[in-house]
Amino acid sequence: MANIDRRLPENVSGDFFVDSSCIDCDTCRQIAPATFRDHGGQSSVHRQPVTEQETRLALMALISCPTASIGTGRRHDARQAVAAFPSRIGENVFFCGFTSESSYGAWSYLIVRPDSEGGNVLVDSPRFAASLVRRIRQLGGVRTMFLSHRDDVADHAKFAREFGCLRVMHAADGAARLGAERVIEGEEEVRLDRDLLAIPTPGHTRGHMVLLYKNRFLFTGDHLAWSPERRRLYAFRDACWYSWTEQTRSMARLLDYSFEWILPGHGWRWHAPSAAVMRKELERCIDWMRA
Ligand code: SF4
Repeated sequence: MANIDRRLPENVSGDFFVDSSCIDCDTCRQIAPATFRDHGGQSSVHRQPVTEQETRLALMALISCPTASIGTGRRHDARQAVAAFPSRIGENVFFCGFTSESSYGAWSYLIVRPDSEGGNVLVDSPRFAASLVRRIRQLGGVRTMFLSHRDDVADHAKFAREFGCLRVMHAADGAARLGAERVIEGEEEVRLDRDLLAIPTPGHTRGHMVLLYKNRFLFTGDHLAWSPERRRLYAFRDACWYSWTEQTRSMARLLDYSFEWILPGHGWRWHAPSAAVMRKELERCIDWMRA
């Protein structure tokens, strides 16, 4: 629960506020940019929500905050905001909300598919929140859980127990230690089923992988994201725990694939107008990394 006594002075006055426990994960700013902003190292409310839609988005941010740093002065019925997750991003791909502090607020996603197409896929782990678990069950549960790398695994074991899903992870990021049922090794791509391709992308961590779905959606973990300020694709140099050289090399290997969406754990997602535009942006990102 956010603590009113620790309300940050950067908040504008009014109902919604952020307290000093904010870890600057960016989740609230992406969900409700009309309400939350980055004032330098933390988030705060720059404008109180006015419309019903703005209030709903601010409540969705409140629910998704990994550290429960967002509070309100008055009581709200958050049921609608809770029920909004998983929230559709495009086609049958959903954002799970309910981020976890142990993953530093990383975003996780759900691909909803009929059993005949391989069943649902959870990409990285959200918080194991009862309402989210219930909703995922209503959407068909989880058949496969893809863990991009060791930092964003959060409540993976609880989800695996709840849904009996198969966890896919790379050996070099401790897959065996974490109990993953399918362990990927080496740097070759691995086809998980007709529409899913696991691609090792060492760099951020030694065993980082991205997941390509239908040659359209690329789930990028902490490998690649969109920067709204720079208006381009980028990678986190300051949060590269293994090797920037390797990460640059892994990035260049992505030129072998076609996709239009990038869906990261941290940073902003991006839907390019076409695969050709995405490729061009990826080339620009690689040039920047090499420089
Ligand atoms: S979601 Fe929570 S922790 Fe993340 S930036 Fe917003 S207030 Fe801070």
